[in-house]
Amino acid sequence: MTLKNHVLNIRDFLLDLLFPVFCQNCHKEGEYLCAKCQEKIILNKKSHCPECKKANEFGNYCRSCQENFYLKGVWISASYHDKLLKKLIKKYKYSLIKELTTPLSQVMIDFLSDFLTDESSKKLKILDFRHTVIIPVPLHKRRIAWRGFNQSEELASLVAQKFSIEHNNHQLIRSKNTSSQTRFDRQTRIKNIGNAFAWNGPKLEKKYVILIDDVITTGTTLNECAKILRQNGAKEVWGLVLGQN
Ligand SMILES: [Zn+2]
Ligand SMILES: [Zn+2]
Repeated sequence: MTLKNHVLNIRDFLLDLLFPVFCQNCHKEGEYLCAKCQEKIILNKKSHCPECKKANEFGNYCRSCQENFYLKGVWISASYHDKLLKKLIKKYKYSLIKELTTPLSQVMIDFLSDFLTDESSKKLKILDFRHTVIIPVPLHKRRIAWRGFNQSEELASLVAQKFSIEHNNHQLIRSKNTSSQTRFDRQTRIKNIGNAFAWNGPKLEKKYVILIDDVITTGTTLNECAKILRQNGAKEVWGLVLGQN
């Protein structure tokens, strides 16, 4: 162990002593989310078209909805109606508790692991990961400066690490600082987000992209990212999110 690691360990030890960590759900001391509460988050077992919600095999857009999307489909790890997940995401996004990256990325990892063990998933080329790259939905640099971290990027990093997938977090950029979209209806969202993203890298030919965001609402943001990636050569773009709002 290097000296630096020793110092970091001692620092963590002292911090824990001074500011003990509690489970954000049951308040048990020790972790930001205890193992028992982690297990309470129920993973999605069924897939549907993210737009019309019609049940299907992979969470792809159905034929009629696909016309309006560059995105192929969205994998929704768990239900946002799960009160616990909703609470954790709120604490992560708005109270800026960065340490929730680990338990929240675990939700995505568990979901994706289940998905991969399913025989039928072999049909999806994106899931053999050899030509797959994980890209987080970017935030504008001013927003990152204010928040301290981009939640999508943190989640993407741990998911990519777990499955040894290439991770690219710097070439899809948000060139326009859009205000928070949550208050707006779909049309306003589409107008606001138009041309908000740019691709600063080489062509993505033959690449399959997993775009990571925390929550999907109308899919407008993910779809704008997918549009730019497709225009730059990506073969297929799928979203991976924690929940659907
Ligand atoms: Zn707990
Ligand atoms: Zn549909």
